[in-house]
Amino acid sequence: MREVYETVKANGKFFLATHISPDGDAIGSAVALGLALRSMGKDVTVYDRDGVPDLYRFLPGSEMVTDEVRRQDTSGAVLVLLDCNTLARAGLDEAGSFEKSVVIDHHQTESPFGDVKWVEPREAATGSMVYRLLVELGAEITTDIATNLYTAIAIDTGVFRYGNTSAEVLDTAAELVRAGAAPADITDRLYNSWSADRYRLFSLAQASLEMYGPVAISTVTLGMFDETGTDPEDTETFVNYPLVMESVRISALLKQKDDVLWKASLRSKEEIDISKVAVMFNGGGHRNAAGCSLEGSMPDVKQKLLNALKDIL
Ligand code: 5GP
Ligand code: MN
Repeated sequence: MREVYETVKANGKFFLATHISPDGDAIGSAVALGLALRSMGKDVTVYDRDGVPDLYRFLPGSEMVTDEVRRQDTSGAVLVLLDCNTLARAGLDEAGSFEKSVVIDHHQTESPFGDVKWVEPREAATGSMVYRLLVELGAEITTDIATNLYTAIAIDTGVFRYGNTSAEVLDTAAELVRAGAAPADITDRLYNSWSADRYRLFSLAQASLEMYGPVAISTVTLGMFDETGTDPEDTETFVNYPLVMESVRISALLKQKDDVLWKASLRSKEEIDISKVAVMFNGGGHRNAAGCSLEGSMPDVKQKLLNALKDIL
């Protein structure tokens, strides 16, 4: 963390970027760091190629996120990648115009990118790393910052239920609540905010479920998005539900992108390292939550995935 701290202290202009199809840890971490750096008088741009999903618009400060890369924002700026560790994952093609690059991430999938790297796979969330950095910097943890960081941690720990829920992360969450984060309001926003259309999509996804021993595969096709008037961000958390069956060890959700492209969300229980499968298809993630893209017809893609899963089961 030291080098990140020094880099923040020594520079005045920052371009914070997080991963495509951002989740709560991505947006929450980036906005929290953006707010803190601005309060320190720094020039800050917060970028996500896909913008802020509707689900996260309630986050205070999230309106600062732009989906545009402008030369005046990048030139002479320090690039900070949050919750990812490659330019491709952030939807950026080149780091050429940046002064320097910093990576703050907790994914175990490695990458050589970054002049300054602070990668801690044992951290539950990028949000908990940003919290530690802000404390070190002596930044005031305002209610707005606390709300963003609490959301980041809540999303990546499944609201303190996953295996990454440590005493340390619960301590951090307690500090964030003391600083003004409101747990019940935040979880209400995150989990009790579905549209009726999204619920219909959920029903279709669950109806598509196929079981292959301990593996559950569900599918969301373009036709289903059409039929329900929803889009890919509406599928967030769907992949978790089949895990409520005791016999299910692995759950996969295939989301159709176009005729031949599918995005897979993968989840596993306990010691099964599902990131190994994601890496086989050039994706990545954590032990129990990972993702990748696959090409082919729906039956082909299922077969490819099942073959890869056989290797790790
Ligand atoms: P999700 O299934 O929710 O999209 O992603 C689960 C986890 O895997 C997240 O930590 C996410 O960052 C990571 N992940 C998902 N898709 C990809 C991918 O295509 N490449 C890499 N490197 N990581 C991914
Ligand atoms: Mn994360």
